[in-house]
Amino acid sequence: ATPTSIMVGTGRAAEMGVLFRKGDALQQLTSVGVVALDKTGTVTQGRPELTDVILTDGFQRTAVLAQVAAVEKKSEHPIAQAIVRAARVERADDVKASGFQSVTGYGVKADVNGVEVLVGADRFMLREGIDPGTIAEVEIDLAKRGRTALYAAIGGKIAAVIGVSDPVKASSREAIEALHRQGLKVAMITGDKQQTADAIAAETGIDHVVAGVLPDGKVEALDRLRADGQKVAFVGDGINDAPALAHADVGIAIGTGTDVAIESADVVLMSGDLRGVVNAFEVSTRTMRNIR
Ligand code: ADP
Ligand code: MG
Repeated sequence: ATPTSIMVGTGRAAEMGVLFRKGDALQQLTSVGVVALDKTGTVTQGRPELTDVILTDGFQRTAVLAQVAAVEKKSEHPIAQAIVRAARVERADDVKASGFQSVTGYGVKADVNGVEVLVGADRFMLREGIDPGTIAEVEIDLAKRGRTALYAAIGGKIAAVIGVSDPVKASSREAIEALHRQGLKVAMITGDKQQTADAIAAETGIDHVVAGVLPDGKVEALDRLRADGQKVAFVGDGINDAPALAHADVGIAIGTGTDVAIESADVVLMSGDLRGVVNAFEVSTRTMRNIR
């Protein structure tokens, strides 16, 4: 393509709300074989809601919710916000925690009235030496239904399995189908566990899942996707997506994302969903073939 046709293509893309921050990204996109999507906030709405609280024997809902919310009030994770909102609705928000600790990618813990309260993923319980026992079946069942399942442990005992649901965006499935029609492979990278990620992938038609990725593991996940010589585009919105956006052959930030995500990207989408990704690939193909 000539410099003029690239200018025309970049202009046409801008009209569609696709901003190319770097000129050669338009060219680079035509050689991309895999599109890797961040899950939370990119494929899904990114605003999880509490859906389940399944208690073990001897624990009571309002008390557990209040203690869990006391810990989560100190966390900024979207999961924490979902739990705190639900606790407020049930008037279980009057408890205080101290000595808060967050273990990124695992969960959170704090002291509530002299008792240690932990909230987090199965791997967090494993790490803390707490065996969920038979309620693990409940946790896996929730995950298979696409929910993020957490354990709450109070005083060293599992008190509840908590389910949180982050629905997929209405446009995700159709956009992923369109990417397939363009001959692209579509992968999803997430910190969630395999079963949860597989359910979301099945719902949206995603072909490849990389689950259980710690926040700083996204870059390595991209390298693995690239292992067979394919160029990889990464689409993300969050602060912890910035390294992956910079590392991908083409980094695409979605418009509702954070400033740091936008600054690390080659392409910025004005819209908050995946249709912009489809448009970016379409404009790039047309420009490089000199189709008007
Ligand atoms: P993602 O960005 O995909 O949600 P994270 O690395 O932020 O991945 O979190 C991975 C997992 O760690 C979450 O799915 C959850 O199980 C657990 N986790 C992280 N923060 C919290 C929190 N504040 N409360 C409970 N669980 C948490
Ligand atoms: Mg995200």
